[in-house]
Amino acid sequence: MKGLAMLRINEVGWINKEKPVINSYDALVRPLAVSPCTSDIHTVFEGALGDRHDMILGHEAVGEIVEVGSDVKEFKPGDKVVVPAITPDWRSLEVQAGFHQHSNGLLAGWKFSNFKDGVFGEYFHVNDADMNLAHLPDEIPLESAVMITDMMTTGFHGAELADIQLGSSVVVIGIGAVGLMAIAGSKLRGAGRIVGVGSRPVCVDAAKVYGATDIVNYRNGDIVKQIMDLTQGKGVDRVIMAGGGTETLGQAIHLVKPGGIVSNVNYHGTGDFLEVPRLAWGCGMAHKQIRGGLCPGGRLRMEMLIDLVKYRRVDLKPLVTHVFNGYNNIEKALLLMKDKPKDLIKPVVLID
Ligand code: NAD
Ligand code: ZN
Repeated sequence: MKGLAMLRINEVGWINKEKPVINSYDALVRPLAVSPCTSDIHTVFEGALGDRHDMILGHEAVGEIVEVGSDVKEFKPGDKVVVPAITPDWRSLEVQAGFHQHSNGLLAGWKFSNFKDGVFGEYFHVNDADMNLAHLPDEIPLESAVMITDMMTTGFHGAELADIQLGSSVVVIGIGAVGLMAIAGSKLRGAGRIVGVGSRPVCVDAAKVYGATDIVNYRNGDIVKQIMDLTQGKGVDRVIMAGGGTETLGQAIHLVKPGGIVSNVNYHGTGDFLEVPRLAWGCGMAHKQIRGGLCPGGRLRMEMLIDLVKYRRVDLKPLVTHVFNGYNNIEKALLLMKDKPKDLIKPVVLID
């Protein structure tokens, strides 16, 4: 089979590989729709995972089951499925401790295009199909369904980690697809004021659709000053970090009130340390919590998010600005994600 792969740091290309082999609990899936992620860009062009050779990229897909192992009970060939970016080993101690994202190691629930080939191949392997796949309802179009696998689960996790309360005031730093979903998740959890920090008009428009009450443009100067002015110097109850560089942690700590929560789902790609501003952190005594997490995956999570889409609590269509048809366009879509033209939020490739 062929697949679009990371050949080495900074280089992508099409390669041929053997079809994956499945074990008794696994499934072989062929993609029906895929979307490149900003994380694929970090992986290839920033070497975020270190060097990888001929590793097929991609971890956002919906697909059709081609084959299942003899112990798979609830899925069969021909079923259409939502495939989470995170597919944990459910038989692990970390799962018993409540953190499936880290099953068998730090961040190790993330397997596609990390520890094994990703979903940009003609076929891909899914471990523990009964625990990691979810049936795709007919009502949800493929373009929307593929947004559930990573963007929705990640942005919503930002809102969960932030523990948004009814009426909480929230700042979301970064309003790409993840930040937009953090806004949507915050609104669903009952946030009051939601300030989106971003600049591109396409993202600003979508942020307002998803529930942002105010927009602050980080290109217009210090966001701490801008948001403190907006809030009469009080700051906010919660900050969700979903974009920007390492400086955003310090900004978030300045912005959050004593007793507030800073929630991070962004990838911090440079330097050895993140800096905590000592005074804004109350010299360590401000009761300002910092939380960060990898998005939840697995079947139950997907089923719950699917219901939010199926019963129209969230519309994922505004996230998808570019749709391509045909396998060969995956490379174009990936490079689009790297170049981030002004009108892009997320591209999706439909596979015939
Ligand atoms: P994105 O690049 O589409 O969105 C990030 C946005 O932040 C961009 O629009 C960018 O212009 C903007 N930005 C840049 N500097 C900024 C600043 N100083 N302040 C505010 N905004 C700024 O990416 P995305 O797909 O929305 O993903 C966001 C991040 O989440 C990425 O780093 C991605 O790797 C990461 N991610 C994490 C998980 C997880 O499980 N935790 C999952 C998926 C993606
Ligand atoms: Zn991703």
